Amino acid sequence: MLLGRSDYTAALRQQLLADLVSQGLAPLAAELQFDCCETDLSNLVQQITSAKSSLNAKSHTEAIDAVIAVGGGKVLDAGKLLAHRLGLACITVPTSAATCAGWTALANLYSTGGAFERDVTLDRCPDLLVFDHALVRQAPPATLTSGIADAMAKWYEASVSSSNSPDGLVQQAVQQARVLRDQLMLEAEEAFHNPGSEAWVRVAEASALTAGLIGGVGGASCRTVAAHAVHNGLTQLSACHDSLHGAKVGFGVLVQLRLEELLSENRLAVQARRQLISLFRKLKLPVCLEDLGLSRVSLEELQQVCAFACQPGSDLHHLPFAVSPTVLLAALVSTTEGCEAAPEPHRAVIAQAERSQLEATRTGPDA
Ligand SMILES: [Zn+2]
Repeated sequence: MLLGRSDYTAALRQQLLADLVSQGLAPLAAELQFDCCETDLSNLVQQITSAKSSLNAKSHTEAIDAVIAVGGGKVLDAGKLLAHRLGLACITVPTSAATCAGWTALANLYSTGGAFERDVTLDRCPDLLVFDHALVRQAPPATLTSGIADAMAKWYEASVSSSNSPDGLVQQAVQQARVLRDQLMLEAEEAFHNPGSEAWVRVAEASALTAGLIGGVGGASCRTVAAHAVHNGLTQLSACHDSLHGAKVGFGVLVQLRLEELLSENRLAVQARRQLISLFRKLKLPVCLEDLGLSRVSLEELQQVCAFACQPGSDLHHLPFAVSPTVLLAALVSTTEGCEAAPEPHRAVIAQAERSQLEATRTGPDA
């Protein structure tokens, strides 16, 4: 089964189908309607079951022996989940360097409306990953910067959650995440402006491949903390659905650093945030709510984001200090504090968040 979604990859998938037919295979094309979600997955299982009966095979594995997922992170996640549930081989063909989903043994499930629901740990990584530079180079530049931000998050999240781990592999993964961050810091701008350069190859591979390798070596304990929890919270707002995964995660890194400043008085976090904001500006990545298209967001909607990110079981609680929704709100609206002035529409929200934060400090933590 060859799985895809967007019009953008339709011609490419047609070509792949023709190539598979020319090799004597009989591929079944399938289209996803939504982000990686249960509705699409059950439709696909249905499609595979009918393929089985039309071929009169004894089991679906005789009709379909592998899932080839071609597309962005959500298509790759859907392909991995489908293969995982049906015990089929999985081949991923990322069409951009926007995430490391082509490599990892992890998939995110969303609602049909695009809101994050939960992540699922898979038995293993995909059996084969095809990373074709010519293909990935055609993707919009924003996909590369999204991949850069998502890959940089590895260091900011893993160093907080796992730097004290006694496990040697986790220690190596954390150090690899630091090297990855340094390389991206040095070469991201060159790669962004010059897709024909060697820097582009290194940065695209670092974002889509090395980031996945780190997830594999470090395992579940060194994956995500506050940056991804903020991403998950932001997906609850429909106004945020147009921005890419990594763009929201990058913003989430700034929120996490802000939390470290507010709650553990980490002075290095201020420097790291300044350094990142400078790079993100050059890469046209969002550094504040306004950049994410949320300039008209209400305080209630922001509270909804914070409540989701702070719910029990959220990765946010892997931070070494407790975070209440109120303090998270204060961090969310002040990611550029001390670096750039807050946009006009946010002053009122910031003032209100600060008032509630003061209130919370007087009455003790509320989560
Ligand atoms: Zn991610």
